[in-house]
Amino acid sequence: MTPNKTKQPSTPKMNPFMGFFWGILIVLLLNGLIFPNIAQRQIKDTDYGTFIEKVDSGVVKEVAIKSGQILFTAEENNKTQAYRTGATNDPQLVDRLLNAESPNENHKIAFNQIVPQENSPLLNFILWWVLPGLLFYLLWRQAGKSLGRLGAGGNFMSFGNSGAKIYAESDIKTTFADVAGQDEAKETLKEIVDFLHNPAKYTEIGASLPKGALLVGPPGTGKTLIARAVAGEAKVPFFAISGSEFVQMFVGMGAAKVRDLFKQANEKAPCIIFIDEIDAIGKRRDAAMGNDEREQTLNQLLTEMDGFDGRKGVVILASTNRPESLDKALLRPGRFDRRVQMELPDLEGRKAILAVHLKKVKHENIDMDIVARATAGSSGAELANIVNEAALRAVRLGRKTVTTADLEESVETVLAGAQKKNAVLSAAEKKLVAYHEIGHALVAALQTHSAPVHKITIIPRTSGALGYTMQVDSGEHFLLSKEELFNRIVTLTGGRSAEEVVCDTVTTGASNDIEQATKLARAMVTRYGMNEKYDMMGLETVNNAYLGGDSSLTCSSETASDIDKEVLKVIKTAHEKAKRIIADHMDIVHQAATFLIEKETITGNEFMDIVRHYETCPPAGSADRRRGTS
Ligand code: ADP
Ligand code: MG
Ligand code: ZN
Repeated sequence: MTPNKTKQPSTPKMNPFMGFFWGILIVLLLNGLIFPNIAQRQIKDTDYGTFIEKVDSGVVKEVAIKSGQILFTAEENNKTQAYRTGATNDPQLVDRLLNAESPNENHKIAFNQIVPQENSPLLNFILWWVLPGLLFYLLWRQAGKSLGRLGAGGNFMSFGNSGAKIYAESDIKTTFADVAGQDEAKETLKEIVDFLHNPAKYTEIGASLPKGALLVGPPGTGKTLIARAVAGEAKVPFFAISGSEFVQMFVGMGAAKVRDLFKQANEKAPCIIFIDEIDAIGKRRDAAMGNDEREQTLNQLLTEMDGFDGRKGVVILASTNRPESLDKALLRPGRFDRRVQMELPDLEGRKAILAVHLKKVKHENIDMDIVARATAGSSGAELANIVNEAALRAVRLGRKTVTTADLEESVETVLAGAQKKNAVLSAAEKKLVAYHEIGHALVAALQTHSAPVHKITIIPRTSGALGYTMQVDSGEHFLLSKEELFNRIVTLTGGRSAEEVVCDTVTTGASNDIEQATKLARAMVTRYGMNEKYDMMGLETVNNAYLGGDSSLTCSSETASDIDKEVLKVIKTAHEKAKRIIADHMDIVHQAATFLIEKETITGNEFMDIVRHYETCPPAGSADRRRGTS
């Protein structure tokens, strides 16, 4: 897309810093070019005796007596040099000069002329008075101008313009077709598009459309994309600015930018203003001394949003992944009164997003279903990245089209890092890793409510994983039962359990499993009410639902330490269960591990063949999403 940029209509202003820069440059040039010349024509100071000596020896050509000074030139070694000496009250001087020999043609000293080749007084005058004067005048005028703006614009310490390089993009090619899934969001935004197309329909009845809509969701779900799509569909100018751009070094600049933005938008209406990552300025104001600049900017934004006429057709979109941190004033009706939720895509959504991005690359016979299932929990941005990685892989392997295998491999690259082909593991380590992974896989396979094993590999990855077991669900799940969660913890402890049972050792390889298992067990106790002792008591709140979801306890410190005990209980029970499963199926473990060491990567089916050989295993149940257990 080639954004047809229309520049903001602002008066041409020369930045005074540039003026200063030129001033310095001119002075440097003067120094470099003119001063050396002056140096060459330097007049040497000398004493009166030397002067008389030179007169007597007949080398003096010209002499001038001037306000207490004698200036003279002498020709020595075929070079003419100018001298200066003090004039003494010497009554014989004139006689001496008249009688002296000279290298001049008439052998007479030229007398009473302005002799030395000094710079012309005019040049001197220009150099020392006119030019600096001009320079200072220019500087002063520039400073005056920006000071003038200070008064008018209220920007304290503003140099030049407000720095607002806000371009309205017209002719945006992005449309709703580029945004896959997100149907509810599109539905809401379509109304805004319709309003921008024919506002009369709405104003006739007296309705004014929401001034603003806030796009909320985790990173990479297409918030920025859909905002552009709204502009593309409505075919109106699109002012896009990111929240952080408002926060500037100088106090007041942010507010000035907001003002600029709304002024321009009003001139260009109907149009769309899009403030990306609005949380940078829209954070809740609190009693504690906050960031003054941010607060001023926010206040200005609130004022502008109140001030403009909603019927004119200026629609404000904003996006954030931290809605809970936004100031309440922003969310009240009349400002961002619509909230558009952008969620991580479900199975169908992922298929649709993959399809959108696969349109851009050459591909054949892609099994969209398997890729979509393997990417549960991935955002649109990650899916776009996966398709691109797959295309890069195809090129690397010298192929002309992308295949399902490329996509599957790039899923792993994006989720677990690239393969580290030249990492050399010792045979003993390789064996440990193999048993660890088989431990996970076996525990997963022999439990109900556990996603089927899709792949096991012991090729190290750049993420640091030495191997991993990938489980892929057959469908989509929105609810998790207590049993499913617990079985998941059992699966996570399966790796360590295999190390213990088979190799009689423990390694650092389980650190990631431990982290995940603890997180799950903790959530069961504190958030999901899956603990007998605490029943349905909420003990924790999640702070940043869309950004990692860190949580904070809401209980007393005694309860906090008791929670730890309950969490430990859950993990211990799970660990025991995993050890039991492995100890009961040692023959499978050995055979599968040997196979894995030999092949390095085996599929879920190959693994299940071994398991079925010994066991009639339970029908594969399912948990919620794709999981990699390393
Ligand atoms: P956000 O602003 O929510 O963090 P973006 O809109 O910047 O995410 O999305 C980044 C990229 O991810 C987009 O440019 C697009 O390629 C891809 N993407 C995200 N969501 C979708 C979607 N629903 N459909 C198609 N592509 C998507
Ligand atoms: Mg964005
Ligand atoms: Zn593990």
